[in-house]
Amino acid sequence: MIRTMYLGVLFVMIVLVFAAATVIRKREDAVSKSISSLFLVIIFAIITNAVFVMSEVEIVAMWSHSLFLASIDWLLLFMLRYSVVYTEYTNRLDVAMKLLYVIAAVETVVLGLNPFFHHVFLLEKREASGIGTFFSPVSYGFPFYIHLGFSYILVVWIFALLLYKTIKTTKVYRKKYSVILYCVAVIVIFDAIGLSLNLPIDISLLCYCLGCFAVVYFSLYYVPRSMSDTILSTAVQMADVGVGCFDVSGKCIYINQRGRQMMQRLGRFHIDEDLGEMETYFAGWLERHWNENDEEKSFAEKLTDGTREFVYEFTVQRLSDEDDELLGYFINGKDRTEEYEKYQDEHYRATHDMLTGIYNELYFEEKVVETLNKYPDTPYVMIASDIKDFKLVNDLFGVERGDEVLKLIAQMFRKYAREDDVYGHLVKDRFAFCMPKERFGADVFLRIMNEIEDMFVNEYFRLQIKMGVYEITDIQEPVFLMIDKCNLAIDRIMDVYAEQVSIYDEQLFLEQMDKNRIINEFEGALAAGDITMYLQAQTTAEGKVFGAEALARWNRSKDGFLSPDEFVPVLEQAGLIWRLDMYIWELAAQRLAKWKEIGREDLHISVNISSQDQYHIDIFSVLKNIVEEYRINPKNLRLEITESIFVTEVERHLQLLKQLQEYGFEIAIDDFGSGYSSLNMLKDITANELKIDMGFLHDVKDARRSRTVVGSIISLAKELDMFVLTEGVETEHQLEMLNQMGCDAYQGFYFSKPVPVHEFEERFM
Ligand code: C2E
Ligand code: MG
Ligand code: MG
Repeated sequence: MIRTMYLGVLFVMIVLVFAAATVIRKREDAVSKSISSLFLVIIFAIITNAVFVMSEVEIVAMWSHSLFLASIDWLLLFMLRYSVVYTEYTNRLDVAMKLLYVIAAVETVVLGLNPFFHHVFLLEKREASGIGTFFSPVSYGFPFYIHLGFSYILVVWIFALLLYKTIKTTKVYRKKYSVILYCVAVIVIFDAIGLSLNLPIDISLLCYCLGCFAVVYFSLYYVPRSMSDTILSTAVQMADVGVGCFDVSGKCIYINQRGRQMMQRLGRFHIDEDLGEMETYFAGWLERHWNENDEEKSFAEKLTDGTREFVYEFTVQRLSDEDDELLGYFINGKDRTEEYEKYQDEHYRATHDMLTGIYNELYFEEKVVETLNKYPDTPYVMIASDIKDFKLVNDLFGVERGDEVLKLIAQMFRKYAREDDVYGHLVKDRFAFCMPKERFGADVFLRIMNEIEDMFVNEYFRLQIKMGVYEITDIQEPVFLMIDKCNLAIDRIMDVYAEQVSIYDEQLFLEQMDKNRIINEFEGALAAGDITMYLQAQTTAEGKVFGAEALARWNRSKDGFLSPDEFVPVLEQAGLIWRLDMYIWELAAQRLAKWKEIGREDLHISVNISSQDQYHIDIFSVLKNIVEEYRINPKNLRLEITESIFVTEVERHLQLLKQLQEYGFEIAIDDFGSGYSSLNMLKDITANELKIDMGFLHDVKDARRSRTVVGSIISLAKELDMFVLTEGVETEHQLEMLNQMGCDAYQGFYFSKPVPVHEFEERFM
């Protein structure tokens, strides 16, 4: 009865093992393959054991038991092979495994020969109630113990391998090996118990079978799944993004480490004690932003801990089951604070002037447009400021003090500005302020500016801040044009000491248009020969002509002749005057060369040098080249400079004069008495000639006083060995008076107006 039951169990085992082996065989990985091979050996062992249990004939029992013992060797060997593959030691143990195969093969032969030689065991017929007669192995021989020893070695090896791997591997993977280790231990323990009980039926096979099923389950199904769970949750836990899950009721069921850190950074959420606050926050968010049908939504939140702003970007995803029923919400959050701060920083740099910390030109313009569009019905004014001779501030007080002026202006603006005002630092010493007209009061600005001006005064200099105001009439007008208009207004008062604020009007605009036309047409006029040289005679008191001054004339077909007073300052401002000067110098040199040919080297031509020329050309080399090209005496090309050139870099300019004089040029100081004139300066400038302009004397009301002034200038110049010429002489009376004062020469309408070259030659040569 028991025997039949046992056989039944064995049969069921075979079917199960075979089925399992076939299923596993389909899997291609090495572990599955090693398990399915093991299963085939088990099937063989079961069959031999079943035959042994059933056999009534001794020789059949003998054969089947011998082969059963051999199959146990192979079973353990394949178990070891599985362990080697599972622990991934295949390569390292390759040779050892081959050796074991050989031993197992030899063992099989030795055991297989037992029916012939009975050297392993003998069989004894026994009787037991419930089982009946059965064969039982007795009097084991030496080879049996070798078989036993080999089996133990294999078992120990399997153990050692799994144990070694369990210890060696990292914590996460430990379970993968320990679980198999326990299985093997259980098999061995049960097997040992079975052996020691010496039951008529060997239960070890059952142990092996059940053990192997356990191994399959753990190594192919349980471990991989639990491993991936562990790895996944570790990955989520350690991820750089904050991850959280909320259930349907809004309860937080999971939040990873990063998520906790992000919330804790805010200081508001004490996550370790209580998730409630965060749940409330999330519930609030859901209510405000989440619709029932939403699948996913991203949003960024600016949160603060009271001192610093944090920017978090969240994505909320709906979690649903297969039937699309809501399971909860999955949230991932990224900390974008650093990017945000970097952006803020870059934005600040791009929009602010680093020196003063207020808006730069570009951003100022942008902000003005924004503000004007925001309040289209409020009239606004644009105010621009400019410092007169700011370069001088740097020269006299140092660049640092210069920067200080700029910072002060910015500071005053900041103090004065209200919410709807926009102000910025445009370039260099230029600022702009845009504010509602109703609040603008020039006096307030003046007070501010005077305060700053007072800080920068010395005996030679007083800082002058000029302001131009433009009332914005068209908010679509480009902001740079508004500022240009303010600057036009400033230009008008730039040289007027008493005026600080100038309001833009249309007249200024028209004037500017004219200026633009001059600038645009200038090059064309030069090329077309519309600009020519006129000559004005310079004479002795008796009217003897000894030279002439070259004066430019622009013949503009439609508008007639343009006077130099109209275009010279414009060209100076536009940085084009050097083009005119070089052109006239060359015409003069050309003429002198002609005069030289006809033996009139006694005549000179005086040419004007603008104080702006030095910024564009090397005056000395240009003049030297001209003289050399036309082979004229430099003495005959007389150079007229104004004292204004000595306002800055006195040393350098004195050096230039010296250089020119050493080469042979003669220098005349033009328009003495106007502008910056200072008698004091005369003693330093070693000029050859002093030109006094009658024109500025006309303005003086008291004729007697002006005569006294001219008289003393003439005597001073004479004392300094200068040749004195008065220009603008219009009457005989003037001539007589100047003659009495000791003036050497004259230039003026009294003798001749400036005339075309051919006319000059006809009349005076
Ligand atoms: P400037 O060099 O002082 O030239 C003398 C100016 O006085 C000339 O004016 C001349 O026509 C004018 N003038 C001469 N005699 C009399 C007179 O009796 N009464 C009156 N009311 N005026 C008289 P212009 O030709 O209009 O030139 C004006 C200024 O333009 C010149 O003053 C000079 O500074 C500048 N300029 C003329 N041509 C050139 C040039 O080629 N280059 C440069 N850089 N400046 C020039
Ligand atoms: Mg002149
Ligand atoms: Mg002059």
